[in-house]
Amino acid sequence: MVCLSAKFKIMLSQNQYLQVALGTSRRRSFTYLPPVTIPQYQALIPGIRLQVPLGNRQVVGILLKVSNHCDIVATKLKAATALIDLQPVLPEGLFQLGLWACRYYQYPVGDGLLHMLPTKLRQAQRNQPVSSHWQRLDDSIALTAAAILQRSPKQAAIWHQLKELPVIFNQQQLKRVGLTPGALKGLLQKGLLKTLLQPTTAPEPKLAQDALVLNPEQTRALQCISPMSQHFRCTLLQGVTGSGKTEIYLQAITQCLSQGRRALILVPEIGLTPQTLQQLQARFDNTIICLHSGLTDKQRLDGWQQANLGFADIVVGTRSAIFTPIPQLGLIVVDEEHDLAYKQQDGLRYHARDLAVKRAYDEAIPIILGSATPALESLANVERGRFQHAVLPKRAGPAQQQRYQIIDVCNEVLSGGLSTELLLHIEQHLRANQQVLLFLNRRGFAPSLQCHNCGLTITCPQCDASLTLHQEPARLHCHHCDHKQAVICQCPYCHNQNLQAIGVGTERCEAQLNKQFPTVPVLRIDSDSTRGKHKLPQLLAEILTGQPCILLGTQMLTKGHHFPSVTLVGLLDLDASLFSTDFRGPERLAQQVVQAAGRAGRANQPGLALLQTRQGEHPYIQILTQRGYAEFACYELQRRRQAQLPPYTHMAIFRAEAKLAQSAEQCLTHLQKALDDLPEAGEQLRAIGPIPASMLRRNGRYRYQLLLQHPQRQALQTICSKLCLLAEQKQLHKVRWSLDIDPQEIM
Ligand code: ADP
Ligand code: ZN
Repeated sequence: MVCLSAKFKIMLSQNQYLQVALGTSRRRSFTYLPPVTIPQYQALIPGIRLQVPLGNRQVVGILLKVSNHCDIVATKLKAATALIDLQPVLPEGLFQLGLWACRYYQYPVGDGLLHMLPTKLRQAQRNQPVSSHWQRLDDSIALTAAAILQRSPKQAAIWHQLKELPVIFNQQQLKRVGLTPGALKGLLQKGLLKTLLQPTTAPEPKLAQDALVLNPEQTRALQCISPMSQHFRCTLLQGVTGSGKTEIYLQAITQCLSQGRRALILVPEIGLTPQTLQQLQARFDNTIICLHSGLTDKQRLDGWQQANLGFADIVVGTRSAIFTPIPQLGLIVVDEEHDLAYKQQDGLRYHARDLAVKRAYDEAIPIILGSATPALESLANVERGRFQHAVLPKRAGPAQQQRYQIIDVCNEVLSGGLSTELLLHIEQHLRANQQVLLFLNRRGFAPSLQCHNCGLTITCPQCDASLTLHQEPARLHCHHCDHKQAVICQCPYCHNQNLQAIGVGTERCEAQLNKQFPTVPVLRIDSDSTRGKHKLPQLLAEILTGQPCILLGTQMLTKGHHFPSVTLVGLLDLDASLFSTDFRGPERLAQQVVQAAGRAGRANQPGLALLQTRQGEHPYIQILTQRGYAEFACYELQRRRQAQLPPYTHMAIFRAEAKLAQSAEQCLTHLQKALDDLPEAGEQLRAIGPIPASMLRRNGRYRYQLLLQHPQRQALQTICSKLCLLAEQKQLHKVRWSLDIDPQEIM
C-alpha cells in the first residue's frame, strides 16, 4: 500500500506543468516543471514568484497556472529552480487586474505583472515585510515586567519610554520617543512586546480637524458620490479651480473610513504629493502612506508592504500607486483626472485613471474623478451615462472666479517675452502688495541659437531639433535626448561669430523681470530650478508667506497648487500650442489655460488672467475666455464626433524606431499590408501611415507610426493582437516596435 501511494504521488508531480510569465518581450508564457527540491505536498498557487532558468541565466517569473498536460515532451522541459514566495505576491483581485491590463494593452504578461511590483520584488528578494507595528502586552504581564527587567536596566529604561506610547505603536511613533526598532529586540525576546503582522482593528476616521460645512453644490456632489455605498459608481467631479473639490474628497474619505474601509488617492505629479499629504494629515490622524517615484526602492517596498498588510488607512500616490494592494479598499479618488501624467508612456502603456475605474468596478466601490478641466473622454462617458456628473460651478467661500483679458501682441516687439501692457499690469498688482504668476512653458534661456550671417540653427547631433541655450549653467541642451554641449561662439558652417539667441525661455524672461522690477523677488520654478529634494518645497514656502513677488514657471507651477496671494496670472506664449499637429492639441491648450488662470484670486482678492497672443480672434481662445471650459468641451466634442476621432472611435498606434529610417518604415509597411488579409479589417477600419513622427529623428533613431482607428473596440483589439503576432514572428532586425492602445499623444 505504502509503495502504491508513493508511486501515485510521483505520478501527480510528474503531471504538473507550470505556466510561468517571465519579464521578456515575448507575448507568451513559458512552461516549466516544478522545482525538484520542493516537497510533494507543496501547493503551487498562481501568483507566486519563482526563479527559473532561461538560456544560461536565472530569472524571476510569476506562476500563472498549473496544468496537467503539456504539448511539449516532458524531457525537453526544464525544472524551475526555486520558489521565491509561498503565498501569491499580489492579492487575487490585483493579480486579475494585472492580467486584464496586459490583455487590454496587449503587453507581454510577465513584464506587465512584474511592472506592478515594487522594484525590489521584481528581483528574487523575499516578500518579507519588516516589522513596523508592535503591541505592548497587557497590564498583568506588565506588572511582572519590573521583575523580569530587574537585571537589565537598559531594557527597563526602554520599557519605561515605551509606556509613553499607545499600547499599539508604529515606527514613526517609536522614532518620536527617540528609539529605533533595533532597541526592541530584548523586550521582544522577553515576551513583553509582540510584533503585529496585521492591524487589530478596522479603520475608523480619527479627525484632527473639523470638516467644513459644505455649500449646497458640494452637498449634492457628495450625495452623488455616495461614499458609504458598497457598489461601483464613478462620479466625475467637475469643479472650477477653488470650488472645494478637496473638501469633498476629505469628507468622502471620512465616510469611507467610517465604513471600516480604506481609501486610495491618486495625484498626477510628485510635486503635488506633499501638498495633498499635508491636507490629509491636517484632517486625519489616521496612518497615511505616500508612494511615488521620489522614494528609494527600499522606502517604496516598505510603503507597499505596509499598505498590503492593511496598516495604511489612506494611501496617496502617483500613477503606479494604482497597483498598491490595499485590503478592504472602499474608495478611490483620482485628482486632476485629465492629467497626461496618468498615462505611462513606455513599457506597459496603461492609463492609471482608466485602470482606477476598472479596479473600482472589480472591487465594487465608488470612485471620484476630480478636475476643473475634465478629459473629453470622461465627459463623453458622462454623456453615455457611464459616469455620474457632479458640478461645482463656482468657488467655495468668498473667492470669485477670475476674469480673462486678451493682450493682442501683433506687431509688438516684446522684451524678454513681455509686452508693455503686461508689464503695466504686473506693476499695478505688485504695488497693491499682491503676487503675480507668469506661465511660460519653455525652460532655458532661449529655445534656439542661430547664426546671424547664414541663418543656420544649431541642432542636436542626435535629434531633428534645435538645442536650447541655457545660462545656468551655460550649455546647449537638447530637451529630447538630454544631449549637452558647451555653448559655441562661432557658426560651424560659415564661421561667423555673431550667434543670436532666438525666442524666450524662463531664464531669459527671469533676467528681464529682474531688470524691470529690481526690488521684487522673482521666483523661477521649472525642472532646472527645482532640482534637488528641498528646492521646490522651499520655493513653495516662500510663496506662501504672501510677500509680493513674481512667480515664473512652466506647467509644473500651475498644477493644483493653492497660492492665496496671487491675483494676476499671465500666460506668455499660447500661440505655439495653438497649431499642434496632435488632435488633442486644443484640449491640452484649454486645460493649461484654465488651470493656469485658475491660480489667480483664490482667496478674497479678485483675480485676473491675461492671455498674451497674436491669435486673439481664434475661436478656441474666444470660446474659452468668454464662455468657459464647459462650452469649449461641448464645441470640441462636436468637432471630434464629426471628424470621427476619439472618444467617438477607438485608436491604437503601432510605433517603430530604428537607426535606419528605412527599417522602421518597412516594419510598419509590413503590418499595414497585412491588414488587407485580416477579415476584421473591414471598411470601418481607418489606417493612417506609416507616417514619420513630427520629429523624425530622436536620440539617433528614426521614428514612424501607424495609426489605426475603429468604431468597435473589440474589432480593433483583435486586429492589433494579430498584428502583434506578425511583428513578433517576423525577425525585425534592429527595429524597436511598440503598440499603444488609447494613445494620449501622437508623435
Ligand atoms: P479645489 O480643490 O476645487 O481647487 P479647494 O478644495 O482647494 O478647491 O478649496 C479652495 C478654498 O475654498 C480652500 O481654501 C477651502 O478651504 C475653501 N473651501 C472649500 N469648501 C468650503 C466650504 N464649504 N466653505 C468655506 N470654504 C470652503
Ligand atoms: Zn537630442
